[in-house]
Amino acid sequence: MANAIFSSLPTTIFEEMSGLARATGAVNLGQGFPDDPGPPAVRAKAAEAVLDGYNQYPPMAGLPELRQAVADHYGRTQNLDLDWASEVTVTSGATEALAASFFGLLEAGDEVIVFQPFYDAYLPLIRRAGGVVKLVSLSPPHWRFDRGMLAAAFSDRTKLVVLNNPINPAGVVLPDEDMALLAEFCVAHDVIAVCDEVWEQVVFDGARHRPLIGYPGMAERTVKIGSAGKMFGLTGWKVGFLCAAPALTHSLARTHQFLTFTTPPNLQAAVAWGLGNSDAWFRDMPLGLAASRDRLTEGLRREGFAVLPSAGTYFLNVDLSGSGIDEADRDFCLRAVKEAGVAAIPVSAFYEAEPVTRIARLCFSKADATLDEGVRRLAKARELSLKATS
Ligand code: PMP
Ligand code: GLN
Repeated sequence: MANAIFSSLPTTIFEEMSGLARATGAVNLGQGFPDDPGPPAVRAKAAEAVLDGYNQYPPMAGLPELRQAVADHYGRTQNLDLDWASEVTVTSGATEALAASFFGLLEAGDEVIVFQPFYDAYLPLIRRAGGVVKLVSLSPPHWRFDRGMLAAAFSDRTKLVVLNNPINPAGVVLPDEDMALLAEFCVAHDVIAVCDEVWEQVVFDGARHRPLIGYPGMAERTVKIGSAGKMFGLTGWKVGFLCAAPALTHSLARTHQFLTFTTPPNLQAAVAWGLGNSDAWFRDMPLGLAASRDRLTEGLRREGFAVLPSAGTYFLNVDLSGSGIDEADRDFCLRAVKEAGVAAIPVSAFYEAEPVTRIARLCFSKADATLDEGVRRLAKARELSLKATS
């Protein structure tokens, strides 16, 4: 018998929408990946590393040069003091880092607090690891939690809380007070935080990413997860990092060794180089993305869409009801890709219970011409929807 936790699930919403976009030739503002091919110097280093011999199994925990570069990068950019040798493990993307966290830290029956909207890999992995999911619902337009919501979710049985910040799909960068509140609950209830910070470099307008691991009492109880795919706009590379205190790192690395054991060494070498030589990229990449966000926002507003603010990630959200559209998000997104040639992601897909059903997520890490064509086609989808439902 197949395992029901995985086999009963549909194909992910990202694959579904990208598949429809490929099949129909639609403009793809669904799945989050940039049009831009990524920093040329980092890609050149990867090519060199392939030719220069970084092609056999690297150490299980990652190339020392990459682990050092990760620790240095977080020291410079987030004021963290990580010991690369005992606190940094390289994984095959953030997804493997998440899997290692759940398989390495959960025992059957442990409760895990997850905020919805959530990244789609969390729930199946947590459940396969034996965890019992406790959902906390965040809602537009602010998508924030408060003391009452945390008090209702934390219990004696809570083992982990999973925090994605900056939040995909919400485009929110949580403020200091929210982070401090969550840290207070983790300490009071002796809970480990698994922090999915893949979007940490992708924040706009002077917003600051605050890692939970830096809050009082959190250094010993936080797993910080990053992804070079998002840092450098190279989403297919799947080079991720797990940062945690030595005792946690020991469990995580033991789990990682039986998931993938290691990660392509040539890509690790290129990311190590990139982390040490990309000040200009880390300064300019968010500025370029913020300009793309603004271009898409203005275009959509001109066409009558209600656009929610985005302070980080590759994504902004459209409020369908506020845009006069009287259709559920999934219906509208299917209409948009099939009848108007533009793919978007229904935000209800990021919920398990009582979903928000009137928000569509759009990816703006695209060339201007792609965004402009996307706006034209979304305007057409809106017209078709208004006609069909009037
Ligand atoms: N977490 C979040 C919140 C994401 O948005 C993504 C990918 N977009 C991932 C994890 C997966 O990252 P990776 O590709 O490095 O596995
Ligand atoms: N994280 C990407 C997104 O939100 C998708 C990654 C994937 O397709 N697994 O669009």
